[in-house]
Amino acid sequence: MKEALKFDQHHIWHPYTSLINPLPVYPVTSASGVRIKLEDGRELIDGMSSWWTAIHGYNHPVLNKAINDQLKNMAHVMFGGLTHQPAIELSKRLIELTPENLDTVFLCDSGSISVEVAIKMAIQYWFSKGITQKQKLLTIRSGYHGDSFGAMSVCDPVTGMHEIFTRVLPSHFFADAPSCRYDDPWDPSSLDSISHILNENHASIAAVILEPVVQGAGGMRFYSPQYLTEVRHLCDHFDILLIADEIATGFGRTGSLFACEKAGISPDIMCTGKAMTGGYMSLAATLASRKVSHQISSGHPGVFMHGPTFMANPLACSVAIASIDLLIQSSWKNKVLAIENQLKKELEPLSQNTQVKNVRVLGAIGVVEMKEPVHMAEIQNQLVSCGVWLRPFGRLIYTMPPYIIKPSELTQITHAINHIISNN
Ligand SMILES: *Cc1c(COP(=O)(O)O)cnc(C)c1O
Repeated sequence: MKEALKFDQHHIWHPYTSLINPLPVYPVTSASGVRIKLEDGRELIDGMSSWWTAIHGYNHPVLNKAINDQLKNMAHVMFGGLTHQPAIELSKRLIELTPENLDTVFLCDSGSISVEVAIKMAIQYWFSKGITQKQKLLTIRSGYHGDSFGAMSVCDPVTGMHEIFTRVLPSHFFADAPSCRYDDPWDPSSLDSISHILNENHASIAAVILEPVVQGAGGMRFYSPQYLTEVRHLCDHFDILLIADEIATGFGRTGSLFACEKAGISPDIMCTGKAMTGGYMSLAATLASRKVSHQISSGHPGVFMHGPTFMANPLACSVAIASIDLLIQSSWKNKVLAIENQLKKELEPLSQNTQVKNVRVLGAIGVVEMKEPVHMAEIQNQLVSCGVWLRPFGRLIYTMPPYIIKPSELTQITHAINHIISNN
């Protein structure tokens, strides 16, 4: 393995890493339930759900069967001019489960692409009406929408790599991150920044794009659902589309099936991805209202200008159907609520620690924000020694475990977090 690891270090990019000073990577041989098995025989309790995705845990018999069954029919077939049952069945479920009005579906390869598709839909919507000056987007700071160019252009400009790519990135409008936190009493002044920008620039804005209620990789912030409700009103008032990026929040993570439900709103366009296939395969979807889809289809050029090679991959669609059915048939709401209560109980005492700035929990997401940035590789090594898998970044040590985690396993995760914070 030494040889293989050496090859890995010298030849293979991992997410956000250097090929000169590579961070350590841990070879995995298998994963089952909430456990990740390392090559040296150690087992880690997974507190990350492989970046929000593996909500039912790994190597799930029902999901395995869905892929195996589909494989007997076909692994893939092009979606241009052809269609299939897995795409149709998945789309039906997405339309039924997502907020009302979203009744058309674009199935694509990854979250970033679903954001690209959403942005293109918004711009093409106005273009097809003959309104060509609406090509800008408005978003909120501390957001994260993916790593491709269109998505990157609406990520937080400071943490979101804008400095390197300034000349090629389109420039959009950024409102302050919502100052009103999730549990705060509603403070209307948190809307000042976004309403000001809308007042001044609505004629050039095609859409507002944001992550509803939970901002993920841009800082793990939870904001007041009332903010989202008010942004929906503002979009209606100024006749601007609203894009909700539910890629991280979708499929129950926040305690609601989709975070938009917390604000009682329906966006015009919505992105989902991550947990959609239960962590099995890369698949995402952009849903849009009939108003948007019909407008795009009626104006010039009369078709929506996007169509990836692996669009609606049948294996991915099949496992997504199985994952969604598994979720809906489970008592996911109770499980997420139990995780929330336990995380609150076991993490909140850390807010007394002088190195800790803030502890926050929402649904099956627990975040410890430190005052100073953490040394990721070092902390990760300590966590692995404690038998848990977490991936801290910046000042954040956080967990979003699989919904099937047992209380005793979750305690191991919170113990490990407590342990490393008191020992550093
Ligand atoms: C992860 C994420 C994306 C990007 O999805 P990829 O599948 O990594 O391309 C976009 N938006 C949000 C909110 C995300 O959490």
